[in-house]
Amino acid sequence: MKLIKAGHMRPELALLVLLALMLAACGDRTADQPGSETTPAVAITPADVDASRIINANSEPGSWLSHGRTYDEQRFSPLDTIKDSNVGRLGLSWFFDFPTNRGMEATPLMIDGVIYVSGSWSMVYAFDAVTGKLLWTHNPEVPGAKAIHACCDVVNRGVAAWQGKIFVGTIDGRLMALDAADGHVLWQVQTTPEEAAYTITGAPRVVKGKVLIGNGGGEYDVRGYVSAYDADTGKLAWRFYTVPGDPSQPFENPILEQAAETWTGEWWKIGGGGTVWDSMAYDPELDLLYIGVGNGAPWNRQIRSPGGGDNLFLSSIVALRPDTGEYVWHYQTTPGETWDFTATQHLILADLEIGGRIRQVVMQAPKNGFFYVLDRASGEFLSAEKYTKVSWASHVDPETGRPVEEPGVRYDEGVPVVVYPGNQGGHNWHPMSYSPVTGLVYIPAQQNLGVYADDPGFEHRPGFINTGLDWTKATLPDDPEQRAGLFSQFTGFITAWDPVAQKEVWRFAHSNLWNGGILSTAGNLIFQGNADGQFASYRADNGERLWTFDAQSGIVAAPISYMAGDRQFVAIVAGWGGTVITFGELSGRSSGTVNRSRLLVFELNAKGALPQPVPFNRGTPEPPALTADADQIQRGDDLYHTNCFACHGEGAISAASFMPDLRYMTAEKHELFKPIVIGGLYHERGMASFSSLLNFEEAEDIHAYLISEAHKLLAAARESLDAE
Ligand code: CA
Repeated sequence: MKLIKAGHMRPELALLVLLALMLAACGDRTADQPGSETTPAVAITPADVDASRIINANSEPGSWLSHGRTYDEQRFSPLDTIKDSNVGRLGLSWFFDFPTNRGMEATPLMIDGVIYVSGSWSMVYAFDAVTGKLLWTHNPEVPGAKAIHACCDVVNRGVAAWQGKIFVGTIDGRLMALDAADGHVLWQVQTTPEEAAYTITGAPRVVKGKVLIGNGGGEYDVRGYVSAYDADTGKLAWRFYTVPGDPSQPFENPILEQAAETWTGEWWKIGGGGTVWDSMAYDPELDLLYIGVGNGAPWNRQIRSPGGGDNLFLSSIVALRPDTGEYVWHYQTTPGETWDFTATQHLILADLEIGGRIRQVVMQAPKNGFFYVLDRASGEFLSAEKYTKVSWASHVDPETGRPVEEPGVRYDEGVPVVVYPGNQGGHNWHPMSYSPVTGLVYIPAQQNLGVYADDPGFEHRPGFINTGLDWTKATLPDDPEQRAGLFSQFTGFITAWDPVAQKEVWRFAHSNLWNGGILSTAGNLIFQGNADGQFASYRADNGERLWTFDAQSGIVAAPISYMAGDRQFVAIVAGWGGTVITFGELSGRSSGTVNRSRLLVFELNAKGALPQPVPFNRGTPEPPALTADADQIQRGDDLYHTNCFACHGEGAISAASFMPDLRYMTAEKHELFKPIVIGGLYHERGMASFSSLLNFEEAEDIHAYLISEAHKLLAAARESLDAE
């Protein structure tokens, strides 16, 4: 907050203003929203968030000041105006259609009457939280071709606020400080080597005046780290690498020397992975920052670290000092990770009564399917149980805290191995929520499997996806019945998890995987959007579904709740996308209507309505005549599954309306196939040139495969017409 000069004011008036400011600081912020007439002598800095405000977030429950609302990231709202007995009267207050239609994963902030939210391509928007009026937007103008480094869509999971600035990380690796008043850039810094396959999709956090930001790229060939920048200047304060670099060079910090003993071979040449792409939490009392660390690069440990080893700090929760980045403790969820089992999933801090004493814990449901409870002061393992179907390990040994692996799960025998969960995880980044009222953690969980197959002919492809898996084998079968059988194993559900007893209390089954993050509230409610495009509320104590709203697009983001005056609102960003685009026909909901990315805001008794959805129709495939022989088509199939499917879908099927399904290419696109794939004709739209990976002949092979798939589609359509 900026006071006007006291000299311009009578002393008693200055005292009144000061009192008003103090009241505003500890109570209802809505009285001094921008534009308010109540305190004309005071200019309020928008987004004036500082340490004491976030630490005391519960004294202003109507705000949402930081990514998980509080530093413990519980995502619990103490608001109870909207509750189980009246949530049936919840209606649409206002909505805003974003100008993009790719995946939307952000949690909004709501500070002093203004919503700040990020969207795809790292764009940022500010709205009046009551009227929905757009106050400003910021487009960082990320080059389209950078999308090739975004394994999992050009998403962004949120912004951070601190002393009048809004911070966002961009897909091309920048950290930007925007003026919260109008969105103009105050400073920006490149946090990653520009040519490398790093991206930023995670939300920054601000602790003690430092902006913390990680990055992604573990599917490519990068080395993970988290950085801290001075919030005022953008100057780098410290950087913590999560995996050791080349041991012939000096280690950046002493703990990496120890970590290097858990690696073998020449891992640093392909980066090692361990990206810190999403979760963080902070305990101001212990002064510990917690980060979640991602999978290995390449995924396949036999290639990454051929002599074995735990490969620290992959798949770990690490505690650091926020002032210096100094290592304090770690716990590794999956030693010797080889299945893309990240531990970047949401971290929640809580105080739980365990065995007759209050324990300060950190909780996580990482991809590997176990729910972990650790002592957050020491890192001591307290308990872990399976929250979804898990086949790679039987249990976690309570003495050592290490998982007990099942035999044959490491795909080193030369045959493909089916493992539960697969690389989508039993739970992905979608935020969970802990309610101190029910004592339950609500996990947006899923069941799925992965097929893993070693690639004995692996060659490092700089700047491209390097999993070390043979994707011509590590894929779902072509046979429709077998496919359907395996696909039936891909499901999603909410599990209400008792973290003390380590067991499920209730479950709500969804029809698909990849459902949205969760908010719990003091009104005995939880809120979640889902893959089917519904935004819904459930009783927190027993899971009864009380209210649904048709959002018209799949929802993956997490909701928030806030107050303006005596009105409680619930806000959610809708918009289908993320890693699920890989999953062919499972990429779902948007097949019926055009994906619409929206901010939706609800309150009691509101009667707003959305416009009619636009039906989605891909038209008719226009493939040229099929002239290729079976060998060429097979070569193209293999090349497609090595190079293209991560964006265009497994089996050349893309059900998401915003990604081209290449079987439906028009005659014109077929003409332009090589200029697009090799020449980079559509690089601004996100389709980079593959000239460094594919020659003309190989592009022709892929084209032949796609033409063949398009003819299959036409034949199937003719068959169903004949049958009618
Ligand atoms: Ca990964």
